[in-house]
Amino acid sequence: HHHRAAFEAAARGFVGGKVPLGIKRKGLRIVVTGGAGFVGSHLVDRLIARGDSVIVVDNFFTGRKENVMHHFGNPNFELIRHDVVEPLLLEVDQIYHLACPASPVHYKFNPVKTIKTNVVGTLNMLGLAKRVGARFLLTSTSEVYGDPLQHPQVETYWGNVNPIGVRSCYDEGKRTAETLTMDYHRGAQVEVRIARIFNTYGPRMCIDDGRVVSNFVAQALRKEPMTVYGDGKQTRSFQYVSDLVEGLMRLMEGEHIGPFNLGNPGEFTMLELAKVVQETIDPNAKIEFRPNTEDDPHKRKPDISRAKELLGWEPKIPLRQGLPLMVSDFHKRIFGDHSDAKP
Ligand code: NAD
Ligand code: UDP
Ligand code: UDP
Repeated sequence: HHHRAAFEAAARGFVGGKVPLGIKRKGLRIVVTGGAGFVGSHLVDRLIARGDSVIVVDNFFTGRKENVMHHFGNPNFELIRHDVVEPLLLEVDQIYHLACPASPVHYKFNPVKTIKTNVVGTLNMLGLAKRVGARFLLTSTSEVYGDPLQHPQVETYWGNVNPIGVRSCYDEGKRTAETLTMDYHRGAQVEVRIARIFNTYGPRMCIDDGRVVSNFVAQALRKEPMTVYGDGKQTRSFQYVSDLVEGLMRLMEGEHIGPFNLGNPGEFTMLELAKVVQETIDPNAKIEFRPNTEDDPHKRKPDISRAKELLGWEPKIPLRQGLPLMVSDFHKRIFGDHSDAKP
């Protein structure tokens, strides 16, 4: 078994436990579902830069052509408008399966569509992986832990999820997607990888997607008050997108199935986050309290020991360093300028 793994690793262009991502090798054919979205488009940039051929499959529910337009005309890049709820025939080596709305506002907009995307969409992509012998990576979520009773969250924790709540189309959907992934692995020998992604931010996030970082940044730039839901004492841990993409690629190329928590352990209350946004954009930005949403998890922070040990991965960009990079992108998109000057 070890010999075979070493042979496959060599054939794929690297040897040994470490994964030199920048290495030159024969390009792979890779599908990225949801590749026109926020995380997907950053992943596509890295795969194209590495010399792989990338096919983006996206229905543009929350994704945008603008996120991948800079690859149009590159023979190694293809964009297919397709809904993963429908079957799809392709010949590829790897499937990064990201297609699914990620913001609570978006995934609650049509909950039945969200659960179909997670269940039928994931089933189709696993069927595709099985047929062509491709390796399959699922982007699951920290939401599988629900409103966690263990803190920080370890991968062995089974979670505390309301199965009939307004968030369940997403968190139960992703839990089922994880189940399908493991069943295709055990039953059909599909090579699989599972990432549990914690809150991620960065350039190209939808400006009005309702997530807390995009809301606060857009509000502070527009001189509107930042909307803190509830008492603002709930916590999240915010990861910069390039750290996540590095983790996803190491997971795909590595030997371990997971699940792996991929997140930044730096934990902030929403009031602390508002303070960081004030420091970054406008010290006079105001805060306004609003009622919180239903079933909002009280706290969330990844234990990333497993990813550190087995993937040699940990995030490098703390919130105070990553936020300005997102702010300059939002500034350009909101005010349509090309300078980083403040309004
Ligand atoms: P996003 O909304 O920007 O991207 C999702 C992409 O999937 C979009 O381009 C959208 O158009 C596409 N899509 C949605 N439904 C589809 C369907 N039925 N068929 C084809 N395409 C479809 O979100 P993101 O933040 O880039 O998230 C990417 C993945 O990572 C998602 O699976 C999400 O659940 C997961 N994730 C993200 C975070 C985060 O903080 N960003 C946290 C946990 C998990
Ligand atoms: N599927 C797909 N592309 C493929 C192979 C399968 O979209 O290349 C879909 C297929 O339509 C089915 C799902 O994946 O709905 C599961 O396929 P599998 O072969 O595992 O199951 P079966 O078709 O036997 O139900
Ligand atoms: N939140 C907030 N103000 C906003 C948007 C969200 O205070 O304008 C809070 C929300 O109640 C939650 C946290 O920020 O406690 C993270 O919400 P988000 O929708 O970004 O992601 P989640 O982790 O809930 O999926």
